[in-house]
Amino acid sequence: MKLILLGPPGAGKGTQSRLLEARYGLAQISGDMLRAEVRAGSPIGLEARSVMEAGKLVSDDILIRMIAARINARECAKGFILDGIPRTTLQAQALDEMLHDHEIELDAVIELTVNASELAGRIAGRFTCAGCGEGYHDSFRPLAQAGICDACSGTEFVRRSDDTAEAVHARLEVYAAQTAPVAAHYRAQRRLYSVDGMASMADVETHIEAVLRRVDRAGSRASALATAVTLTRCRDD
Ligand code: ADP
Ligand code: ZN
Repeated sequence: MKLILLGPPGAGKGTQSRLLEARYGLAQISGDMLRAEVRAGSPIGLEARSVMEAGKLVSDDILIRMIAARINARECAKGFILDGIPRTTLQAQALDEMLHDHEIELDAVIELTVNASELAGRIAGRFTCAGCGEGYHDSFRPLAQAGICDACSGTEFVRRSDDTAEAVHARLEVYAAQTAPVAAHYRAQRRLYSVDGMASMADVETHIEAVLRRVDRAGSRASALATAVTLTRCRDD
């Protein structure tokens, strides 16, 4: 499965990506991971770092090449989830071209729709385990045991510096202006599925799985059709 998860900050993309990763062995690719690659100093990471150190934004070209390197790596053998990427229609177009060059077809783009007024609460309360990346929330997904990660027993946690009620408003405005049009880009390609992100985490997961079953069935129908056509052609020969 090759998927894109779209939605504003706090919609639940990271949460659902990790569930899909655990259930289907898909690899999550997020902006955070690409930033980690810069810190780790891979060749393309170093190239990105020199741009960042010059005070410039990493170009779409570098971003897309970092994604290309990831999706061709072994960790993506069962597929991948682009979590919150692309962020602009220009990036979406560059991604389309790169996937086309690598003969990779997206199975679905899933948009988590949410009520903007709820997002501030979700973003302001979230934190992540520094050890394994598991996501938590002060109210919606607290630690089972105070100070200890449920997943890896780690004891260090991080909160993003822009995960504050004050910064949320500006981040949502950027999202509405630059990223919301990305959904229309994929709707035009008939790849877009909308899932209600306001439902409980378990219900969002169930709805995403229903989408995956649907595209999977459509995919096997298409390949059965292709086989049938090939067989007919063979008989004609
Ligand atoms: P994104 O990756 O889209 O920014 P996250 O997955 O980090 O969003 O989710 C934001 C916060 O909201 C996290 O603290 C997460 O635990 C919580 N959360 C995610 N999905 C839900 C949900 N369906 N209901 C309530 N809280 C949720
Ligand atoms: Zn952990």
